[in-house]
Amino acid sequence: MKKEVKNLKNYINGEWSSSSKYDLNVINPFTEKVIARVVDSNNGDVNLAVKAAKQAFELWKTTTPAERSLLFLKLADLIEGDKERLAKIESDNQGKTLSLAKSDIEFGIDNLRFFAGACRILTTTSAGNYADTHLSNNQHKPLGTSILKREPIGVVAAITPWNYPIMMACWKLAAVSVGNTIILKPSSYTPLTSLELAVLATKAGFPKGVINVLTGSGKKVGKMLATHPDIDMIALTGSTETGMEIMKLASSGLKKIHFELGGKAPFIVFDDANLRRAAKFAVDASVINSGQDCTAAARIYVQNKVYEKFMELTINYAKKIKLGDPKNKNTNLGPLISLKQKERVQSFIDNLNKTEKVIYQSEIPKEGFFFPVTIIRDFEQKSNLCQREIFGPVIAITKFSTEEKSISKANDVDYGLASSVWTENIQKAFRVANALKFGEVWINDHLPLVSEMPHGGLKHTGHGRDLGVHALEEYTYLKHIYVGLAGDEK
Ligand code: NAD
Repeated sequence: MKKEVKNLKNYINGEWSSSSKYDLNVINPFTEKVIARVVDSNNGDVNLAVKAAKQAFELWKTTTPAERSLLFLKLADLIEGDKERLAKIESDNQGKTLSLAKSDIEFGIDNLRFFAGACRILTTTSAGNYADTHLSNNQHKPLGTSILKREPIGVVAAITPWNYPIMMACWKLAAVSVGNTIILKPSSYTPLTSLELAVLATKAGFPKGVINVLTGSGKKVGKMLATHPDIDMIALTGSTETGMEIMKLASSGLKKIHFELGGKAPFIVFDDANLRRAAKFAVDASVINSGQDCTAAARIYVQNKVYEKFMELTINYAKKIKLGDPKNKNTNLGPLISLKQKERVQSFIDNLNKTEKVIYQSEIPKEGFFFPVTIIRDFEQKSNLCQREIFGPVIAITKFSTEEKSISKANDVDYGLASSVWTENIQKAFRVANALKFGEVWINDHLPLVSEMPHGGLKHTGHGRDLGVHALEEYTYLKHIYVGLAGDEK
């Protein structure tokens, strides 16, 4: 029997709502079939969502942390109860394995539970009597108490990418936990679980208009959001190019911006490292989510002495990776998100520099946007392979001689998100970690994120922080209230 393709509207003000046509096809990257149609929102849809979020803000900003916390806990429970169904939708829409979709959702649930607690303990640096005589006109000594408050900013437009759709949407809900209202604009490739999340939020009891979802293309809907006068802040997780574009668009309204952009993580293996563990992690961390991960190990630097041994171990591990049906328990990797992405990854392989050699490529299924697990040795520091985001299951390895060289090569890219150091020498590990210019450094590990710690970077990665209490701070502004205490003197 032919499966019916669902037409999905926007989710605004606590209900399905749309004035546009369903003109965007949502495709399953494994079957290459259309699984849903969504709206490419127009000006009217955007205005409706902004109006709903703006109205809701007036009440939402007055709720207590305890009230917001309770709703976050309820939402987390609802997602947990619906995990299997949501994971299936995410896997069908994104192409990732069912097990990865489940672990993304589990992390999202933990993030929401963390925000539920963290929004209740948000503190500022100090409160006290700081007034001094130099501020007076010598007639009286000012006497007053200063208080610092963190206030919500207003309506936040959160624009998210296609690689971790529901997890990214959960991260952006940090804004809501501190009293902002939100318009989520998921990638046009992967809108399905963000819509599901908004429906569950209404079920959890979030008031109308606090969490809204607008679907549509970045160039059109993302642009309308970035320039809308009633949007106070833009939070983007996406590519550096999109970040640059949004920075320009948002400048006319001087909107607050929060960027989590691209990455090109170095993975530095010293000759005293636990080589087996490092090689296994290098493979897993390069191909995670079929390589479509901003923290993926994108440049593996191995010290001369152990280079060939490491290469051998890496090939052995890579051979164990199975590509196939994302729903099959034995599958390690699914397809890439689209044919366009597949062609993009292929173009890197077609344009390698002379020294760069493909030494292994896996088999791929006949259908689906699959790209083979590919190992390339001896990449060059100045090549595209080293300098630009590939976002495919490519394991790129080269060698280095000294500690200083490893640091200078690792830092020699535009990006500054994540990095890792592999050595059994604790002093060396910390020396290198201190010298690396990245927002995140792992020692003898690669990839783990935790709800309590900030995630973000610098340089072309942008300057926002997701997760941790730091994310909550990003979605507030600091207000200084000074209480004069000497008012009733004669
Ligand atoms: P993308 O930049 O193409 O799209 C991201 C979002 O921006 C989408 O919702 C898209 O519709 C929207 N968009 C695109 N052009 C726009 C414009 N001109 N104005 C407004 N909105 C616009 O990124 P992608 O291809 O979906 O995702 C992959 C990128 O995301 C990679 O560069 C990856 O490194 C990055 N990423 C970063 C992190 C992080 O934490 N730093 C996490 C995940 C992904």
